[in-house]
Amino acid sequence: MKVTEYFEKAKGKTLISFEVLPPLKGGSMQAIFDTLDPLMEFKPPFIDVTYHREEFLYKKRDSGYYEKVAIRKRPGTVGICAAIVHRYGVDAVPHLICGGFTREDTENALIDLNFLNINNVLAIRGDARQFEGKFVPEEGGHNYAIDLVKQIVEMNNGRYLDPNIENGLRTDFCIGVAGYPEKHFESPNRDFDLTATKAKIDAGANYIVTQMFFDNQKYFDYVDRCRQAGINVPIVPGLKPITKLHQLNSIPRIFHVDLPDELVKGVSNAKTAEARTQAGIEWCIQQSRELKERGAPCLHYYTMGDSDTIRKIVETVY
Ligand code: FAD
Repeated sequence: MKVTEYFEKAKGKTLISFEVLPPLKGGSMQAIFDTLDPLMEFKPPFIDVTYHREEFLYKKRDSGYYEKVAIRKRPGTVGICAAIVHRYGVDAVPHLICGGFTREDTENALIDLNFLNINNVLAIRGDARQFEGKFVPEEGGHNYAIDLVKQIVEMNNGRYLDPNIENGLRTDFCIGVAGYPEKHFESPNRDFDLTATKAKIDAGANYIVTQMFFDNQKYFDYVDRCRQAGINVPIVPGLKPITKLHQLNSIPRIFHVDLPDELVKGVSNAKTAEARTQAGIEWCIQQSRELKERGAPCLHYYTMGDSDTIRKIVETVY
């Protein structure tokens, strides 16, 4: 079933969903099951699986020179989606990125997904690779998520890259895109950011999942601004609990989000590691409760492999 159909069927009830990332290459599928098994009793209708582009590494050669090699550390998104559907009987939402894909690669990936009966996809651009100052698309690939959305919509209309394909199979993908309550870090301002997001919806995307945020007011304001701009699709809040002291610095650096002072003090003043984790969990519980009370369509938890923490939050909220 499509993600948006779940929202329609829920009739205002707040759903729950989880996001997992593929294990490092050489790891097993069991790592994903170990994360998800303790969470399935909360009946998520769908589970997202992230996609990871290759990274550049520098390997020292015998000559002393360094060789630049591209390695995909976390492959397996499509296989993991199929395994999730098979094991749990829920829908899986693969993330599909522009980075590392030509248009042809994208088309073929979408054909694979369609043949697997996976009809939901989160269409995103991807970030710049390490050692690259800005996002560089694959030659013949897409620059922005909107271009990926447009390609998926073309396939939903039975149009493929090869113009000689007549009466091509119409895929039926439900398309999610990313949204940023605090603005995407490359956008010059919030209005620009909102215009870019609206363009993705106007191009055919069906719903938005937000970047994590730690101050609910930012999400509520974002939803208001989206509605005023004519964005009327469901906007799913993305949630991530802080559980470690170093995350007070790493999360703002990696995800370009602000942490409220009260949360920072609560975590940094806690005397033990357990107390710090508990402070982060309680913050996320409060966020979740308020979002649920105010009718968010779904709470989307970034698990990052930590099912214990997510479980503690969800069992308190649901
Ligand atoms: P876009 O929508 O393309 O926007 C990127 C920037 O370009 C924005 O600043 C936008 O304002 C600007 N822009 C858009 N269109 C134009 C235009 N026509 N002209 C000029 N500027 C324009 N990354 C991964 O690698 N794998 C994942 O699985 C993954 N999952 C994610 C899930 C969620 C819910 C979120 C919020 C992010 C995820 N990311 C993932 C990170 C994402 O790839 C980055 O945030 C990336 O920097 C932007 O992706 P986007 O789809 O929002 O890009």
